[in-house]
Amino acid sequence: MKKLLIMMLICAPFFAVAQEQEYKERFEQLGSMLPTPNSYRTASGAPGENYWQQKADYSIKVKLDEAANKITGSETITYYNQSPHPLNYLWLQLDQNMRAEGSDSELVGTATFFNDTIPGKYLEQYVANGGNSYDFPGGFNIESVKNADGDEMDYLVQKTMMKIRLPQTLKPGENISFSVEWNYFVNDRMKGGGRSGYEYFEEDGNALYTIAQFFPRMAVYNDVEGWQNKQFLGSGEFALTFGDYDVEITVPDDFIVGATGMVQNPKEVLTKDQAKRYEKALKSTEQTFIVTEEEAIENEKEKSSKYETWKFKAENVRDFGFAASRKFIWDGQMVELETTKPFAQSFYPKEGNPLWEEESTKAVKNTLVLYSERTFDYPYPQATSVHAASIGMEYPMICFNFGRPDKNGEYSVRTQLGMTYVIVHEIGHNFFPMIVNSDERQWAWMDEGLNSFLESNVMFEYYPDLPYSDNIPQAVTGYMKSSKDQQRPIMTNPEQVLRLGPNAYSKPAAALNLLRNTIMGPELFDESFKAYAQRWMFKHPTPADFFRTMEDASAVDLDWFWRGWFYTTDHVDVSVDEVKYFRIAQDESDMEKNTKAPEGDLGEKEEKEMKTDFSDGPAYISVSETPEFWYGEYRNKVDDEAIKARYADKHFYEVTLSNKGGLVTPLLFNLEYKDGSTEQKYIPAEIWRKNEGKTRKMLILDKEVSKIVFDPEGELADTDNSNNVFPKTESKTKLDEFKEKGE
Ligand SMILES: [Zn+2]
Repeated sequence: MKKLLIMMLICAPFFAVAQEQEYKERFEQLGSMLPTPNSYRTASGAPGENYWQQKADYSIKVKLDEAANKITGSETITYYNQSPHPLNYLWLQLDQNMRAEGSDSELVGTATFFNDTIPGKYLEQYVANGGNSYDFPGGFNIESVKNADGDEMDYLVQKTMMKIRLPQTLKPGENISFSVEWNYFVNDRMKGGGRSGYEYFEEDGNALYTIAQFFPRMAVYNDVEGWQNKQFLGSGEFALTFGDYDVEITVPDDFIVGATGMVQNPKEVLTKDQAKRYEKALKSTEQTFIVTEEEAIENEKEKSSKYETWKFKAENVRDFGFAASRKFIWDGQMVELETTKPFAQSFYPKEGNPLWEEESTKAVKNTLVLYSERTFDYPYPQATSVHAASIGMEYPMICFNFGRPDKNGEYSVRTQLGMTYVIVHEIGHNFFPMIVNSDERQWAWMDEGLNSFLESNVMFEYYPDLPYSDNIPQAVTGYMKSSKDQQRPIMTNPEQVLRLGPNAYSKPAAALNLLRNTIMGPELFDESFKAYAQRWMFKHPTPADFFRTMEDASAVDLDWFWRGWFYTTDHVDVSVDEVKYFRIAQDESDMEKNTKAPEGDLGEKEEKEMKTDFSDGPAYISVSETPEFWYGEYRNKVDDEAIKARYADKHFYEVTLSNKGGLVTPLLFNLEYKDGSTEQKYIPAEIWRKNEGKTRKMLILDKEVSKIVFDPEGELADTDNSNNVFPKTESKTKLDEFKEKGE
């Protein structure tokens, strides 16, 4: 690869040839790159007439043993086989086993010492990341798997997956109930990291638990993957089946618990006053405190050893998470959407204040409002933001978010920004992938990318004063022009991605912002994006369903866009090679001013022969008499003199462009006129359809131009501004730089 690049740069005459060959077929339809449409998933991107999905209902009882940091649980799962296939076994996810000693995550973890010193704190994390978990007895201990009659069932624990071998085939349309008992030790999140775990506060001797992946969960069985039982290595998140949850959580009786779903027994677990405030908060559009800071501080001191049980119910969710601590302050308010009235709420310790009481629930509300406008009205009864140091992690109706002021309660704009966008992001995950339930284990971008895109839209709309600049085309140019060894196409499994942040979050989000703001326009984009969200709400979409729906709903052929942005690591780098200026000669005296005759084709020219500015003035084109053979029997003859006169005042600019980055792109020019006015010109990407490496556009203008700038605001993600401007006053060409280096 490197060799080829050097060849292309040295041998200028071969440059265009090599480039054109490499860049061909950028506009071909994705065709066989997408799965063949069928009766489950149609060519339009909608679910087909035979679309089906499984269902799993859960009844779970867990106890959180505070002293041992241990969860003990039992669950009854009722699994509905709604597929047309008989099943002889079931697969469940045992995600905690990633933390078990000798797990694959441990074995395949890699690390390198970059320096000859390392701070002790980092060494511990480093050892964990590099392969050996810190001293911690992680992983599920499965105590029993029993059928509805209480008889032991035959099962296999296969690393992070568990297979239940069914004694009888589960036929289409049938369901089966079975029970699992288990326990595991909860990890200290501040030591070994992780999506769930606890943070211990030494000052008051309390922990804040953010608990997830805490029970064996049904894997997805569908028409695309069969069983999605790819092992959990840590990056590829979850693929889960929808169902109804009935969950009882037993904790010390001075704990406050937030969870997926609605609490069923508030009067039992809250004080009388708190229960009243909770009832009031549910119906109020004003922020209401259910547990105040003073109550939380009092609570911290109690350390009750008695236990009580919080009961939750959630319908049609793909997972369940909860947070528990005696440190929690709790506030909430109702959010009025067009058709639903969800409850926005926040749980946080005093350490989160004053930032959290000011911003958290507000951010939940802003997110629900904008996301609902762009997709569907938030269908769940509540959305919860929980304060948790250094992570952002999402579950249905509940998420864990970072952002903590310093000990004096002071915080920087960066802390506020980080806290705000992480809440927007994690609450936003309710839409993707909790409701539009894509397969995270296979495609991180389908939830992270779509969600980061909407996150950026909330931030720009509701927080214009915060210095947010992520997830837009300008933000990903550094990544996209970085070494191609460090990149993978967006369409890559998250385990193989080298830099998950830009690959699964900001690059796809930037692509969608580009699509919305520049290529399709907000109206057409929003309508199509909404079509996708509504078609796949409470279903399991794939990338093809998204790609197809966006085109199906808009009549915009985007195959070139998906191909370039999602299937390659090409970047946008358009060079304005030359701009030639022409006018139509009106008489002989104009022609006498000509210094050089214009050339017509796209043939290769030495760079030194190209014009670098407008100093030569226009070249004049004479209009000759139209030959007789152009006139058929029934056609009128044209008046050549009138045509010539009509264009007397026009200024013709022939702009020659080359595609240096490989990613085909629309063109956006800023034209600065001699009279000081400016104008923008947009040209769709199809201008490259016949030659993906080089193209030429004639701009016919009313006024004389002094400067032409390609991608003036960076909204096309052009990675090199030095070749975007004509006259070429800005900097040397790449070729000059290369030659200088070589000599
Ligand atoms: Zn995310």
